[in-house]
Amino acid sequence: MRPPELLPLFAPAEALKGIGPRLAVLLKKAVRMPPGITAPRVLDLLWHMPTGVIDRRAEPSVAAAVPGTIATLKVRVVKHFAPPRGNAKAPYKVRCEDETGRIDLVFFHAERSFVERQLPMGELRYISGRIERYGETMQMAHPDYIVAPEARDELPMLEPVYPLTAGLSSKVLVKAMRQVADRAPSPAEWQDAAWLKRRGWPDFHAAVLRVHRPTDAADTGPGGAPWQRLAYDELLANQLALGLVRESYKAQRGRPVRGDGRIRTKIVAALPFALTNSQTQALKEIAADMGEPRRMLRLLQGDVGSGKTVVALMAMSIAVEAGAQAAMMAPTEVLARQHLETIQPFADAAGLRVALLTGREKGKPRADILERLAAGDIDILLGTHALFQEDVVFRDLAFAVIDEQHRFGVHQRLALQTKGGDGGANMLVMTATPIPRTLLMTHYGDLDVSKLTEKPAGRKPVTTKTLPIESIERLIERIRAQLAEGAQVYWVCPLIESSEKSELAAAEERHAHLKQAIGGEIGLIHGAMAAAEKDATMEAFSKGDLKVLVATTVIEVGVNVPNANIMVIEHAERYGLAQLHQLRGRVGRGSRESFCMLLYAGPLGNTARERLDMMERTEDGFEIAEKDLELRGGGEVLGARQSGMPEFRVAEVPGFTELLAAARDDARLILAKDPGLSSARGQSLRFLLYLFECDEAVRLFRAA
Ligand code: ADP
Ligand code: MG
Repeated sequence: MRPPELLPLFAPAEALKGIGPRLAVLLKKAVRMPPGITAPRVLDLLWHMPTGVIDRRAEPSVAAAVPGTIATLKVRVVKHFAPPRGNAKAPYKVRCEDETGRIDLVFFHAERSFVERQLPMGELRYISGRIERYGETMQMAHPDYIVAPEARDELPMLEPVYPLTAGLSSKVLVKAMRQVADRAPSPAEWQDAAWLKRRGWPDFHAAVLRVHRPTDAADTGPGGAPWQRLAYDELLANQLALGLVRESYKAQRGRPVRGDGRIRTKIVAALPFALTNSQTQALKEIAADMGEPRRMLRLLQGDVGSGKTVVALMAMSIAVEAGAQAAMMAPTEVLARQHLETIQPFADAAGLRVALLTGREKGKPRADILERLAAGDIDILLGTHALFQEDVVFRDLAFAVIDEQHRFGVHQRLALQTKGGDGGANMLVMTATPIPRTLLMTHYGDLDVSKLTEKPAGRKPVTTKTLPIESIERLIERIRAQLAEGAQVYWVCPLIESSEKSELAAAEERHAHLKQAIGGEIGLIHGAMAAAEKDATMEAFSKGDLKVLVATTVIEVGVNVPNANIMVIEHAERYGLAQLHQLRGRVGRGSRESFCMLLYAGPLGNTARERLDMMERTEDGFEIAEKDLELRGGGEVLGARQSGMPEFRVAEVPGFTELLAAARDDARLILAKDPGLSSARGQSLRFLLYLFECDEAVRLFRAA
């Protein structure tokens, strides 16, 4: 159960003074909330970090105040100049003074009673705002703060600036945030004392206060000690939670899966090529991992076309050699079918019984598959999300492969894994998107990784060229010549943001254009097509019946047509590097010289220019992934939104990578020494897990 000290933080934001239903709606727009939370809570405000501070600490005399700066002045109200009735445009001026001089406070469109109430004649007031000079007169338009001497505390001398939204004023939010800070608990320390001392970090409570009610300008911002401390708290919670989930996953009764090699030998004999060294190495790692008496969770990372499918087939064969079953799941129908096509000949040669289950298998055929699956008459089941369905029951699933893992959520991976019944299934997830170490760690903690670093022998480099859209007719001319020599072309139509309809329209238009300019068989494939129709089109292209395939980005992942050698991408400037690289990976698989033509519409921004240059310069997926991160920059380095990785609320700070590495080591050490989090520090760490809403992880203790 959530510790009671945390309850004030989990209250709705409306529990704060000054926050009513109307403001709560605005807060919802301004403040990030975790998935599933629909109304902001005090906790969500706690993690709403300032983007800067306004320094109001300069308290000069009126004569010494410097125009253009923010200052706080102590003045006496001497005279009101209300605008003449009927002249709404004239400002309301209030003359104030101290011993050294005079300053006019200026209000446009002011409510008369408001000004009168705030600035009674003859009274002393602290005012804070930007100093201006108007002719000979000092003035301040709309002071940010006007407070009576006895309420001086309400004037934040260092005022945090928060991300806002239309209708939400800084003043209101600052006031709410001060209450938020006041609600922060003072829990027993969970961080290591020596570590805190070395970094010069305050305790949790002090850190919260120093972020939201700063008193020292030097330590504000994401690089300052208080924020860094909170960032580390979040990272430690994340790493601990992952460590716990992983430990419990691995600790579940796994079983060693070892094969005798009889099926693999037959497959290798049937392959028309030799495995690359990378493939052999990855297989060795996978086999060793499967042979351990705990559950495997391994990532196979390899650039497009590096030959992951064969590795998956060989690995699945190990399970079959051991007398069990294997499954492989792809994110789309087309890909699942392609897996079947790739695998079928070798499976036949090796006597493997393979079946396909997608959303399209229905009725009797589906029932047959399920029956054979449960009876153990199917060795390998390929498919899509359809594999998750509850009535899909294996006799004995020992190994599951997930292709293009980034398309699936964590829970989906787990769903497949649990179909392994007694002992669970060992998991291999495969991806062509090079995921930087940093990202992997936030998602899996320490995941075991195998990499395919070489391309299969005989692959030719792809020549990449960028050209302005104005050259399209010349390009079509050249393509016509290439087609006469047997070339095949992918033509990817512009990515149009947030509107599939117009994307389709663009593709149809290009299709008609090319048909007219080139003639002959030109196919069109798009997301709105029925699966069967898509497959038929893909099939026709694959067989060479279609020479040109106009497509929206549905062909992005995995499709393999070795004869295709030209890739044209329209509006290439709209794509991210990783996406361009994926698309380009569709060509250069056969014996023909290959080209990737990136058509752009100018003028190009700097980032787009750099992306296209990078594409011309290199085909190295890892290098491209690094550059991609660099171009996407700071906060987005985490790529959270895009890749389905967890979002951090506080931890996106300078030094992130180093902090994350430290948190990982820290978490590992903690769990090694105190796996039940039962020591005194362990108890505090549980508090930390609740604070960052890692309740799932805490629950694992109770299960244990
Ligand atoms: P990806 O890693 O993108 O999933 P695939 O597994 O689809 O790549 O492999 C792409 C192509 O490379 C397939 O036609 C496959 O048969 C072929 N291939 C795989 N391994 C090798 C190899 N060692 N030598 C030559 N071709 C290979
Ligand atoms: Mg693939």
